[in-house]
Amino acid sequence: MARKAKKPEPEIEPEIMEVEEEDERIPDVLPLLAVRDAVYFPRMIFPLVVGRDKSVRALEDAVAHGRYILLVAQKEMGVDEPGRDDVYSVGVAAEVMQMLKVPDGTVRVMLEGLARMRITGFEHDEPHYRVHVTEIPEVEARGVEMEALMRSVSSQFEQVVHLGRQIPAEALLNIISIDEPGRLADTITPYLPIKVEQKQDILETTSAGERLNKLSTILRREIEILEIQKNIRSRVEKEMGESQREYLLREQMKAIQQELGERDERSGEMGEYRARIEAAGMTPIAKEKAEKELERLEKMPFAAPEGVVIRTYLDWLVTLPWSISTEEKLNVNEAQRVLDEDHYGLKQVKDRILEFLAVRKLSGSMKGPILCFAGPPGVGKTSIGKSIARALGRKFVRMSLGGVRDEAEIRGHRRTYIGALPGRIIQGVKAAGSRNPVFMLDEIDKLGMDFRGDPSAALLEALDPEQNDQFSDHYLEVAFDLSDVMFVTTANMLDTIPPALRDRMEIIAFPGYIEDEKLAIAQQFLVPKQLRDHGLMPQPAAERKGKKAKPLKSKYMEFDPNAIREIIRGYTREAGVRSLERTIANVCRKVAKEVARGKTAKVIVNEKVLRKFLGSPRFSYGLAEERDEVGIATGLAYTEVGGDTIMVEVARLPSSHGSLQLTGHLGDVMRESAQAALTFVHSRAAKLEIPQETFEKSEIHIHVPAGGIPKDGPSAGITIATAIASALTGKAVRKDVAMTGEITLRGKVLPIGGLKEKTLAAHRAGIKTIILPKENRKDLEDVPKNVKKDLSFRFVETMDQVLRLALVDKKAGKQGATKAHRAS
Ligand code: ADP
Repeated sequence: MARKAKKPEPEIEPEIMEVEEEDERIPDVLPLLAVRDAVYFPRMIFPLVVGRDKSVRALEDAVAHGRYILLVAQKEMGVDEPGRDDVYSVGVAAEVMQMLKVPDGTVRVMLEGLARMRITGFEHDEPHYRVHVTEIPEVEARGVEMEALMRSVSSQFEQVVHLGRQIPAEALLNIISIDEPGRLADTITPYLPIKVEQKQDILETTSAGERLNKLSTILRREIEILEIQKNIRSRVEKEMGESQREYLLREQMKAIQQELGERDERSGEMGEYRARIEAAGMTPIAKEKAEKELERLEKMPFAAPEGVVIRTYLDWLVTLPWSISTEEKLNVNEAQRVLDEDHYGLKQVKDRILEFLAVRKLSGSMKGPILCFAGPPGVGKTSIGKSIARALGRKFVRMSLGGVRDEAEIRGHRRTYIGALPGRIIQGVKAAGSRNPVFMLDEIDKLGMDFRGDPSAALLEALDPEQNDQFSDHYLEVAFDLSDVMFVTTANMLDTIPPALRDRMEIIAFPGYIEDEKLAIAQQFLVPKQLRDHGLMPQPAAERKGKKAKPLKSKYMEFDPNAIREIIRGYTREAGVRSLERTIANVCRKVAKEVARGKTAKVIVNEKVLRKFLGSPRFSYGLAEERDEVGIATGLAYTEVGGDTIMVEVARLPSSHGSLQLTGHLGDVMRESAQAALTFVHSRAAKLEIPQETFEKSEIHIHVPAGGIPKDGPSAGITIATAIASALTGKAVRKDVAMTGEITLRGKVLPIGGLKEKTLAAHRAGIKTIILPKENRKDLEDVPKNVKKDLSFRFVETMDQVLRLALVDKKAGKQGATKAHRAS
């Protein structure tokens, strides 16, 4: 019986038995060889390994008697010793072409199929089967149909081969050249992976056409199966391919990163950014932007220069307070308490602020005008702003706009610029760490404008409650909502604020303090603060709500009120209290030094000690002159630092011709005023008893010593005229008179601005009488009562009135102002 060799062949010289030629006819009785798992066909040449004894004996019989043998398929492959019924009754007669006996006991033969045979009976069963056989003749039909069938089967087979069924190339060539239908079927069938029964069925089919038809059906099915297999294979291959590719690349990347020792750091950084983006509470658009940038960063090599730009940008995005806000506590009573607690006086300011807050509370929105605190430095604008923030439970940030000329400073630079950053608004919000701070924009009157764009337009957009919920900063690229920010601006002067901005603002004026107020502020706020800051007094215990902590005393030093007054008068000259605070700090520093050196006795700072610490007073209090002087008049000016007194000095020098010389702190407007004043005095020469030749033979020199340049130049007009008249008549100017007013050529006195500030300045300087244009009488309402009570006001319409009030009658020494009435 036959079996295919499964083990590798032993390398032993096989014994070859040459088979003798014998007669051509296939005998009627043949030895039978049962084959386990194959069906053979006529005209096939095939090898066979035979192991079973009965089969070997059958082969030996065949070789001994004419080389013919009948091969029949076993019905059940597993049967080792098949009986007569265990084999099919149709087989193929074959010729043994070669036979090898291998030492392991098996026999290898090469056989050639000859013809279909039917078993008609058994001759004997032992030592091997011998059977009677008859040949089954081929039934071959010819014709177009058969031709078509043949072609179709050939091409089907080709397709099967094409789809991957492995067959030797020469076999395929052989098949293509076959032109007998029956033979074609017989040659193809053995190559198909079909069951033994199916092959046996083909073998037993005598009609060639029928055989081909059956084969065609089988082939069609086979093609289908192969196609499905191919699809499955290619899909699997594709899937495998992609995931494998990705996997490989990732592994390579990991390896490279690990090699560079950066992997952990990198993935840690990305993870951290991702977490921070999640936690930042951004707007959806901002978040999307951040994620996109992070993706870009991730794809970049670790040290790429652009990575730095992206990191900076991401840092900005994640640290902005997108959804962090402090809880608003808008309680007007509480706000009042805080404002009073932090500030002395400023009643009008506080009232305006409380009204403003009350309206906001009632309207429930932050929309409305922006507050603008206008006033000289050191009058408490910033500190009121801070108090508002404290009262509302908001954060406080401050940003100066002084000298900002570029739109980009407000709105940021685009990221394409090297070192680009967001503008000041976004910087301030970030510094506040909350999206609803009190945001103080300082020095809005110092905002510039040039070719780089108008910063006030950008500022307007930031401040405008109608559109600032979508404030766009060039750097951020995504909108930030500023609508909950409470903007407050400050300015020293109002006239330089861009009009568009000024329109949106509610101006609250801080006029500056009079001496008594400064003293109170120093005693209640500045001195305790400086003592604490210099470690000369303990910090106050936590205050209980609504109750002011008792003022603590320092055991090292104490300020005598007279010393404070002396600082105000002799060492400072200002509308606010900034220099006062600085000077107090200076004194505290000196005491602290002595305490640090071991001094234990308490220092009482009186006027004498003050002089020791600070040297002689820098300013002489009261009038510049001790006596009534000729050629010197005191004017009142409105400057950047509030109201101030100015001295106008005039001297007459003999000269060959008349001329005018101007020196000192004079603006253009003041120069023109000086000309007008001189012309007026000239026109009154007769009345003032000034000889005509005085004008022809003198150089008149007008000088304004250092001091703030008045913003309102023309208001010095009457002062200059007075000084000129005094110099040319030789009559002295009363030392306790100050004046302000514009002059016309015909001697009319015109109204001026800044009356309140000027009045405070005069009061500060110890002036007793102020000469004012009549039209300014109504402005006196704004002046604090306790200032008014110390001053007398003279309202005038003409320069003649001014001269009558200001000049001392030379001969009589009588003071012209005595007849005047008191204003209050
Ligand atoms: P500004 O912003 O107007 O230039 P600041 O607010 O900085 O002035 O004030 C300067 C100093 O004077 C601060 O220490 C401030 O607390 C103090 N100060 C100003 N006005 C008052 C006041 N009315 N009561 C208490 N302290 C004041």
